[in-house]
Amino acid sequence: MKPGHFIHPTGHWTILPPLPLRGIGTSMVESLDSYLTRLLRVTGWPQHAIRQLANARGDMIFTLRQEGALSAPTKVLNQRIAALEALTGQQHFRCGTLWALSQVVSIKAYGRATKYRRWCPRCYLDWEEHRSVEALAWEVALLEACPEHGCSLVDACPKCGATQPVQTPDAIRRVCRVCHALLGWTAPRITSTQSPFERWIDQQICSLIQLCADPQQGQLPEKTFATFFDTLSKCHGHRADLPSALRVSLRMRCYESHARAPTFRTLLNFAALQGCSVTDIVTSPESAASAEPLFGFWKDFDRLPLDGLDVVSKERLLEIGLERLLDEAGQLYLPPLAAVLDRAGIVEHDARREFPELMREYKVRYSSQGSGAALKRMNLAFNSAMRGLHDLDPTWLKQSMLYKLHKHVMRAGGISIEMARNICKVALMFHRMVRDAQQRRKTWPRSISEHTMWSK
Ligand SMILES: [Zn+2]
Ligand SMILES: [Zn+2]
Repeated sequence: MKPGHFIHPTGHWTILPPLPLRGIGTSMVESLDSYLTRLLRVTGWPQHAIRQLANARGDMIFTLRQEGALSAPTKVLNQRIAALEALTGQQHFRCGTLWALSQVVSIKAYGRATKYRRWCPRCYLDWEEHRSVEALAWEVALLEACPEHGCSLVDACPKCGATQPVQTPDAIRRVCRVCHALLGWTAPRITSTQSPFERWIDQQICSLIQLCADPQQGQLPEKTFATFFDTLSKCHGHRADLPSALRVSLRMRCYESHARAPTFRTLLNFAALQGCSVTDIVTSPESAASAEPLFGFWKDFDRLPLDGLDVVSKERLLEIGLERLLDEAGQLYLPPLAAVLDRAGIVEHDARREFPELMREYKVRYSSQGSGAALKRMNLAFNSAMRGLHDLDPTWLKQSMLYKLHKHVMRAGGISIEMARNICKVALMFHRMVRDAQQRRKTWPRSISEHTMWSK
């Protein structure tokens, strides 16, 4: 098939076949990733062809690097939806994403790394090309059971434990990429053994997904959560029976100009606190916050079992760090991998096992910066910049205050002043990244028992 060979039902030509998104309006709505996989199968085109087409309509909305879920509330979500709609002549792709909530929830709303799939073994077992979907709801880490089958969602091969990337072609998608075991099987229902609270969580997630899947639903305003938080603070912040964890959260809020965008976990905690539903919070934040909270008459409230705030592993921190460097520093200068691994306290072999593709990409991009000799000079400059920053106590340092360091770094590496400026910029970013990562590793495990419930 070639581009431009499809006629839309309205009589217009479209470049890609006019496949509709499945499950619109339901909690089993198809995710945009699932849609794209289907589109690739139907057209038989390679992935990069469709990416190129879509990118031509937006500013690199599909990057070459393997990315997380396309349905996540990222900055380019609107462009992605618009590009695919223009190419297929279809509407409502936003229903297969978190678009409705994208101004409200954090980019990390799903609460998991979305490069890897989560799936329902029963849905995979009963897969039928003409109707099956991979559901948007499966992306949410807190959702335990498939809305359709009520069995546990899984994220690893049952036989060898390997994770499965999001971008696997449809033809080989339901077998393990490592050991080729089937990823679908007769998994038992778990809904009868779930605690009432676990069932409540699943219902809440499904209702949020259903809200996103509703084609009539507009985009909820950015200030939604701030409004909820402010009202909560005004109505209940002074109370003597305020749980201490919540008191800390409300006080912290005074120091931040905006309430941090919540993940689904945070929304659920507040819904539990207010005895309302999550959709109440996002659709009518003021009335949800001003209602009488549960802590007034339920003294064990702050022991609700929703505490599993994940301790961030150092592997995960390294992964985030490498991704950030590629995204934010890549245009200026990439520091040597050894320096990054060293600060993360991880040996290369382990990192390669955890995220081989990312490591490969980093290495390729790093070596593309110049010849061996040039890289060596830049490394000297980078090391001197890092030492300089260390002595400057860069906690409050701004980019504009780095001019003194520029010359020093230029001489240390024998490089141009422009390059020295870039390297200093990246060194400052890297320095802060390492500091934040150390901070997180240090304080998170403690804060889990104390303040965990209220924000993440
Ligand atoms: Zn299922
Ligand atoms: Zn396997």
